Amino acid sequence: MAGKKFWRCTVCGDIHFGMAGPEICPTCKQKNVYIECDAAEAKKVMGL
Ligand SMILES: [Zn+2]
Repeated sequence: MAGKKFWRCTVCGDIHFGMAGPEICPTCKQKNVYIECDAAEAKKVMGL
């Protein structure tokens, strides 16, 4: 998973895993709302 990171939408909490956060959140449709988040936080948000 080199280079890939977890990203979290600051509006709805949606988690994305990849090289960069999506420009537009697929869930809440807001632009530029993704921030980098660490794996532990991502798993907690996803309920793992
Ligand atoms: Zn969102």
